[in-house]
Amino acid sequence: MTDTSRQSAPFCGDDHDPAALSANAARQGVLEGIRSQMLTATEHLPLLQSLDRVLAADIIATLNVPPHDNSAMDGYALRSGDLPDIGSRELQVAGSSFAGHPFQGICNSGECVRIMTGAVLPAELDTVIPQELVQTVSATTIRIDAGTRPGDNTRKAGEDIMQGQTVLERGRRIGAADLGLLASLGIPQVCAFRRLRVAFFSTGDELRSVGEALHAGEIYDSNRYALFAMLKHQHCRVTDLGVVRDDPAMLRKILLQAALDHDVLISSGGVSVGEADYVRQVLSESGNIAFWKVAMKPGRPFTFGHLGNTVFFGLPGNPVAMMVSFCQFVQPALQYLAGETPSQPLTLTAVTTSALKKRAGRTEYQRGILSVTADGSLTVSKTGNQGSGILLSMSRANCFIILSADQTHVAAGSNVRVQPFIGLL
Ligand code: AMP
Ligand code: MG
Repeated sequence: MTDTSRQSAPFCGDDHDPAALSANAARQGVLEGIRSQMLTATEHLPLLQSLDRVLAADIIATLNVPPHDNSAMDGYALRSGDLPDIGSRELQVAGSSFAGHPFQGICNSGECVRIMTGAVLPAELDTVIPQELVQTVSATTIRIDAGTRPGDNTRKAGEDIMQGQTVLERGRRIGAADLGLLASLGIPQVCAFRRLRVAFFSTGDELRSVGEALHAGEIYDSNRYALFAMLKHQHCRVTDLGVVRDDPAMLRKILLQAALDHDVLISSGGVSVGEADYVRQVLSESGNIAFWKVAMKPGRPFTFGHLGNTVFFGLPGNPVAMMVSFCQFVQPALQYLAGETPSQPLTLTAVTTSALKKRAGRTEYQRGILSVTADGSLTVSKTGNQGSGILLSMSRANCFIILSADQTHVAAGSNVRVQPFIGLL
């Protein structure tokens, strides 16, 4: 053992355990354990209600966007054949085409049409000269110079979206631009997967909810509130089951009841080795359950299993460990179960301005503040005390600093891998 490891406060979660699963293997294990449990139930939703929902069917464009050739500038539309090769020439103004009010007449050679941005380009015309390049000779005559090329300043029908094109795929979480895209196709409703129903609770005789008085030895339950937020962020329908006392009979009743009408159950606390660890006990009696020691910090004890068709996650009680485990194991699982096409979380490389303490043999998710320096490079600093109960370290952070199992202490100035919280919490 090195000096450093002797200096750190020893607690059971820190012991090196060669039998522990790697964080990647645990994530993979969860995904394998829920294979084919992806939602199948769908519903039709009016466009505005489909924001943040997962598409259950591809969206195929039924029209061209834009539907017609149109002008990209305010100016004059003309035939490219009328463009002067050198010098300048005069053209007669045959009429106008405004957005929403197309030109109705016929524009002959030697004539042009006054046109506004977005207005329909008359069929026989193919080029637009911007207003500022045109001299007005009279109310009905303009002069143009050489220099404009055929097709300039026009937008082609279908240049954004072609009729028949697949614009959004099944499994897509609908965002702001998608909503605009669907509207641009005139689609009034979409077919989406129903939302995941997730119930969650905290375990521990020491826990009180906000609004209750604290008695000797009690603390406020923070996990349920953070879990609520993270689940909302994943667009789940949530049921808060409150604090469940360390009482196997009560726990069994609540778990079995909630499993009837939820896709996922999540608890925190009571999964470490201790006399009050009833969650494992109850789950192994009533469902199938795996208890994993994961070679990670924070978040070593992690429980995963099933109660009937309902997926169960038992997260550690320590608030930071709970959040890290959620981000690393539960979030990817929720994404898959919801029918969403999995996305790799964004990871970046940044220079750490803090020296980072680290033991070999486990992946660490330290909490950092990622920022951009004046020269555009990325730096990250740690958010103070990195203990697994120090929730301030999460609150101040905007990223995880992920240190791999084989890494040891990291000197300030080194490159480290960071995972921004975007999309995670
Ligand atoms: P446990 O996993 O139940 O042994 O809990 C580990 C540590 O996390 C203990 O210090 C607990 O008091 C604390 N803890 C457990 N659940 C919560 C919670 N919901 N909110 C805040 N702290 C908790
Ligand atoms: Mg407990």
